[in-house]
Amino acid sequence: MIAIDQILRKDNLTKSDIIALLQSEGDERKLLFKKSMQVKAREVGRVTYYRGLVEMTNICEKNCYYCGIRKGNAHVDRYFVRDEEVLNAAKFAYENQYGSMVIQTGEMTSTTFINRIDDLLKEIKRFSNGELGITLSCGEQSLETYERWFKSGAHRYLLRVESSNQALYESIHPKDALHSFASRIEALHNLRKVGYQVGTGVMVGIPGQRLEHLADDLLFMQTLDIDMCGMGPYIEHEDTPLYSRRGELWPLQQRFDLTLKMIAVLRLLMKNINIAAATALQAIDKIGREKALKVGANVLMPNVTPGLYRNDYALYQGKPCTDENAADCKNCLEARISIAGDQIGYGKWGDAPHFKARNSKK
Ligand code: SAH
Ligand code: SF4
Repeated sequence: MIAIDQILRKDNLTKSDIIALLQSEGDERKLLFKKSMQVKAREVGRVTYYRGLVEMTNICEKNCYYCGIRKGNAHVDRYFVRDEEVLNAAKFAYENQYGSMVIQTGEMTSTTFINRIDDLLKEIKRFSNGELGITLSCGEQSLETYERWFKSGAHRYLLRVESSNQALYESIHPKDALHSFASRIEALHNLRKVGYQVGTGVMVGIPGQRLEHLADDLLFMQTLDIDMCGMGPYIEHEDTPLYSRRGELWPLQQRFDLTLKMIAVLRLLMKNINIAAATALQAIDKIGREKALKVGANVLMPNVTPGLYRNDYALYQGKPCTDENAADCKNCLEARISIAGDQIGYGKWGDAPHFKARNSKK
């Protein structure tokens, strides 16, 4: 096997190089992280951009086997944040110079839901004079819906592929049309076609996943030429079908470590994209997100969901900060990010240079 320092000097990484990097331990792991930090500093700067996150509803029509808010989980108190509260959260993000926000929801395709998102987008654009950036993460929708929301002001969209390996994807979803792998991929292509900055990502450490799958996931993101990525460790939830396979899981710490390495390797592969430090990292390690910022991530999604609802958006167990409000998060984060050595990109959209570069080629 080639030594890690040699791999780190290469311009193009092969699948076996990536696997070697994901396996690195000790001094080799340190070398990987040192290099990914250098690439981050050079390509996107030592700046962390904020996206104020509103978890607008935990109502979902889908039944993904891993997710705590899946339709089939009867233990969830379902909520829908009122429009006025979403707008207040957006105003908080705007007034506190977050620059940008994310609206995330369970997946719904009703006309009422589509119209509601559409109206909110227009209103947020209106009160912020078009200044607050808006990312959506509302699952798979039709091309027409993606177009409509884009016209109304959303310019980024997050849709994780969860796993780019079809068999693995199918093993963590029900086998029906609503959970089709082909539709997920098509949705990602549609988002790009419409003009969004497209973000995807995977869960690290799902049952049956091997390093070669994760290497393929990174190469998939490179081929798709994504602008943004959000990857986090899979964390089991006892009220989900996948919980029955918990005996097959890597220990939590290993899933955490591997997520950091995935972030570092992605930074080497796609130097100037935006990479989020996922909240799930913090569920495993109190300073997990800061560790991610130190190995290549440059985006953080402070939760601005009204405190009342936070407990009920439990995608996985042990979700941090569910008893806090947006102002608590702001102060806490500032301190944390300065410890990680980054500045905060206040008041900026913080688009990935990758997106700008691709568009200027057109
Ligand atoms: N409904 C939308 C967005 C909300 S779910 C969608 O599915 O795209 C957002 C993400 O939460 C999912 O993409 C998934 O990767 C992550 N997630 C769900 N359950 C999880 C779990 N048990 N552990 C870690 N991440 C999880
Ligand atoms: Fe619904 Fe998203 Fe959870 Fe799947 S991952 S059940 S689509 S909220």
